[in-house]
Amino acid sequence: MTTTAPIRVTRTAHSQLSQIDFANLGFGNYISDHMFVADYKNGAWETGEVVPFGPLPMTPAILSLHYGQAVFEGMKAFRMNNGSINIFRPQRHSQRLNQSLARMCMPPIDEEFFIEALKAVIRTDEKWIPSSEGSALYIRPVVFASESRLGVKISDEYKFVVLTSPVGPYFTKPVRVKVEETYVRAAEGGTGFAKCAGNYGGAFYPTQLARQQGFDQVLWTDAKEHKYIDESGAMNVMFVLNGKLVTPKLTSSLLDGVTRDSILTLSESLGIQKEERKVSIAELEEGFKNGTLTEAFGVGTAAVVSTIAVIHIHGTDYALPADQAASFQQRVKQKLHHLRVGNEADTHGWNYII
Ligand SMILES: *Cc1c(COP(=O)(O)O)cnc(C)c1O
Repeated sequence: MTTTAPIRVTRTAHSQLSQIDFANLGFGNYISDHMFVADYKNGAWETGEVVPFGPLPMTPAILSLHYGQAVFEGMKAFRMNNGSINIFRPQRHSQRLNQSLARMCMPPIDEEFFIEALKAVIRTDEKWIPSSEGSALYIRPVVFASESRLGVKISDEYKFVVLTSPVGPYFTKPVRVKVEETYVRAAEGGTGFAKCAGNYGGAFYPTQLARQQGFDQVLWTDAKEHKYIDESGAMNVMFVLNGKLVTPKLTSSLLDGVTRDSILTLSESLGIQKEERKVSIAELEEGFKNGTLTEAFGVGTAAVVSTIAVIHIHGTDYALPADQAASFQQRVKQKLHHLRVGNEADTHGWNYII
């Protein structure tokens, strides 16, 4: 998009805002009053508009329903201490969205267009941004094939929609995870690095089996040998091993998490060395046995940090030390919070203030 035509806003006459219990938001329970919608037709994105949240006209023959061309993003906007609105790292999310789109043969959305769309919908629903500590406006951009046709083909038409949702602090009790050695989420060369809808659908069944066995999540391993750790559920995973921050290095089967990148970047200022490399199950087992594995946690936009209490490996439950206030995961979570609300200088240029 070269011209930035102003985005038209049609406001709802039936705001749901007064019905929202801001003290008990939970995660993803409410969708804000408005959404951004743009169409891709004849080889170009239209400007798009902000309209009341609601149904979109479409037929059951839209190609995304049949052949899976659907990708999304997940990010957050925060109310800062001085009242400004801060979208966290939208440029980085824009890059990742474009990587996902490219892998699924879908047309790119340039950064300026992406950010203008976010700004338009966030400004319209500004009153939906919660301000208590740990809460945020979760932003869900989604792009899907909307051409109505049955034959297998790359769609010529798409929709780009941005929804938002006020979310509370994501208090998760420490989770029990199971090393998965039968099923795979993604194989190298597949679509694991893309935030595409099908990756989630495919992960539900093994996750459901793990839940029936008393675990909260699976710890995915590589598809070839089931020897190395990929991710945990829909989060990247990190360990404190021998006093160092260790995380699996990125491959085509791992999602390049923005939270992962932020935490790796902040690690130095928190006085810990970092290692991005292959992490084997054998190494974790060893770390449990000799006491050098002191922390394990998932990282992602929704929860920021999700403490792992137990890892199930080859039939044995290995427990991590109880999470302490001075743990690396708690310190880095606090640091990210302070940075995003403006208590601490944003030396990396991550805050996009609107
Ligand atoms: C979204 C996602 C993550 C976390 O990415 P963030 O950018 O930190 O939110 C990790 N793994 C998977 C599979 C994901 O879909």
